Amino acid sequence: MDFETRAIHDGQEPDPLTGAVTVPIYQTSTYVQQAVGEFRYDYARTANPTREAFEACMASLEGGSHGRAFGSGMAAATTVMHLVSPDDRIVSVNDVYGGTYRLFSKVYAPKGYEFSFVSADACNQDMASHLDERTRLVWLETPTNPLLNVIDIAAAARAAHDVGALVVVDNTFASPYLQRPLELGADIVVHSTTKYLGGHSDLVGGCAVTADAALDEQLGFLQNSLGAIPGPFDAWLCLRGLKTLAVRMRQHCENARAVVGHLEGHSAVEKVLYPGLTSHPGHEIAERQMRDFGGMVSFLVESEQLAVDLVARTKVWALAESLGGVESLIEHPARMTHASTADAPFATPSNLVRLSVGIESADDLIEDLDMALSVGHRSALRSHQ
Ligand SMILES: *Cc1c(COP(=O)(O)O)cnc(C)c1O
Repeated sequence: MDFETRAIHDGQEPDPLTGAVTVPIYQTSTYVQQAVGEFRYDYARTANPTREAFEACMASLEGGSHGRAFGSGMAAATTVMHLVSPDDRIVSVNDVYGGTYRLFSKVYAPKGYEFSFVSADACNQDMASHLDERTRLVWLETPTNPLLNVIDIAAAARAAHDVGALVVVDNTFASPYLQRPLELGADIVVHSTTKYLGGHSDLVGGCAVTADAALDEQLGFLQNSLGAIPGPFDAWLCLRGLKTLAVRMRQHCENARAVVGHLEGHSAVEKVLYPGLTSHPGHEIAERQMRDFGGMVSFLVESEQLAVDLVARTKVWALAESLGGVESLIEHPARMTHASTADAPFATPSNLVRLSVGIESADDLIEDLDMALSVGHRSALRSHQ
């Protein structure tokens, strides 16, 4: 069945007890056993029917066989990192989510895990030259946050598998509607479900999906042992978000295209970063591995001051971290989401603005941006005189 149908039905049989069309929120910590050791569920850290419905639906949408839900995207990443050990080498794209970079560089590196951060360009040119037999994990994010670089997942996975490394892809920016890394050779897909999957900026959650039964068994063991699970209500909100993922993503993409078209012609904008632009270095790869180019757009303006001023001036676009909700958000990565990469050699440009294009009217979004940009541009020009 098609994606749209699976998003609404997979893992979501009507409730056997009442016939409820919507999977109930099983808000319980424990379950009665028929006799010692005779049970379907025993304890809610280990398993919960609401969470399982969400996990089954996620597995279906990512083209995997198993899904594991977590209390946040970082909880999913932390759990996946327990598949490797100190002294193992991890190769990561350098332009990862700021929190992932912080987790790797400030939490795991001091414990003796060895990280190499490779640019998206270098990943695409010759991934194999960055890997060796000590490399146990290759961590990719594509499109990247916030520069929207694109990595060839299939090529990176081939190189990683040649040295016996696992490939993890953070698919948060694309969502499974636009990109399915497991079908391109990745071993594990991780998500911050806080973003497009939940879709309404009302929860924090994470997920990991694999098509490999042995890997899932390890992830399930780690999920239960580390305990970084979501509560039943958040799992239920995520499941509800999945039902409209396809229509939301189509509108996010359409609105992003309109906004990009407008920004491209704007005199105050120096450069627009969007994989849908033919001028984008990753355009051809994105066209091959994605259904469409997504709702995230970044652009450079002439100065940090203009960037900081303009993100505070918009009315429809809310100045906020996070992304992927129905409402449009605007932010300044260097001082907000990516402040944790400020010391890194690949720090975010200070004149970069990031947009999470929502599903409001594109005309309203463009008018609001125009207002914020033109005021800023004129005052910037004045200050040069
Ligand atoms: C937000 C985000 C994360 C972290 O997820 P949380 O749910 O905030 O813990 C990881 N990766 C990407 C790409 C993100 O945007």
